[in-house]
Amino acid sequence: MILLSGVFLLVVRIIYHCNNEILEWQWASDIKLMPYPYFTSCYLIDGFLIDSGAPGGENDLREFVKSLNCDQMIEKCFITHTHEDHAGGAHMLNTEFAIPIFTSEKAINFLRKGNLYPEYRQAAWGPELLPVNAEIIDEPIITKSKRYKFELFPMSGHAPELVALIEKNQQWAFVADAVQPKYKMIFGKNSDIQEDISLIYQALSKLYDFTESMDQLLIFSAGNGVLQGREIIIKKMEEIEDLHKKAHEYHSLLQKEGYSGKKLIRKIIKMLLGRESIISQFTHGDLSRENLILSLLKWEKKGS
Ligand SMILES: [Zn+2]
Repeated sequence: MILLSGVFLLVVRIIYHCNNEILEWQWASDIKLMPYPYFTSCYLIDGFLIDSGAPGGENDLREFVKSLNCDQMIEKCFITHTHEDHAGGAHMLNTEFAIPIFTSEKAINFLRKGNLYPEYRQAAWGPELLPVNAEIIDEPIITKSKRYKFELFPMSGHAPELVALIEKNQQWAFVADAVQPKYKMIFGKNSDIQEDISLIYQALSKLYDFTESMDQLLIFSAGNGVLQGREIIIKKMEEIEDLHKKAHEYHSLLQKEGYSGKKLIRKIIKMLLGRESIISQFTHGDLSRENLILSLLKWEKKGS
């Protein structure tokens, strides 16, 4: 805990799930710019770590690893995707604790290269993503005591390389950022992060089909809690379908009324989501409602 402008703000939170079988390590930046802490999570299950937090959380993660006893110690780590709030601790885990870092084929070059990202992301997640000596894995991951087996489940859309992990017997899905609490804005424009709402939708649909027999499904997100039940996936899909349908409807309607270009897009944003978010200004348009509308319009409407 730290003292910030007279209020206590938690930076690290540890949450246990499923009879303490799953430890969720959450980290948020303590900078004053943010109106509220924005958390990212990694999960530790039977010596297997899923994701590694942000570069700014490196010291806190190091203290956490040092606090683990022999039984809990991390044996291996898998990085779901290359965004700095997921891959940020991997360099330290590998160089200081010799923990092997695994990732998908699509993510490997990016991880090995490291990444310098814009200042607004540095403010939230710390200075830079250092290169990681990662290895590719393309087969199910078995945990230390062999209790759990995680299948690799690609879910692009938020990031092309994102791979979720699914433990079928336990009915656990670790989806990182592939499922969001609300679809109001996405990354795009000039950012190195290019989200695609139609691919996000396809990934959700694929997850729904894959988890068909799982009536007790738990979906573990990064920083946005644990979602219970497959119905949540349907709700998310319906939310996106509704946005998709309306974006196209408003587009045709406004075109008939003579709107075009930027004015047309601005009007759709207003009708569908309210005014453009202040975050758009702060991120130079990288994360905005406009990006979401453009992605929805690029996605052909049904039946056309
Ligand atoms: Zn991400």
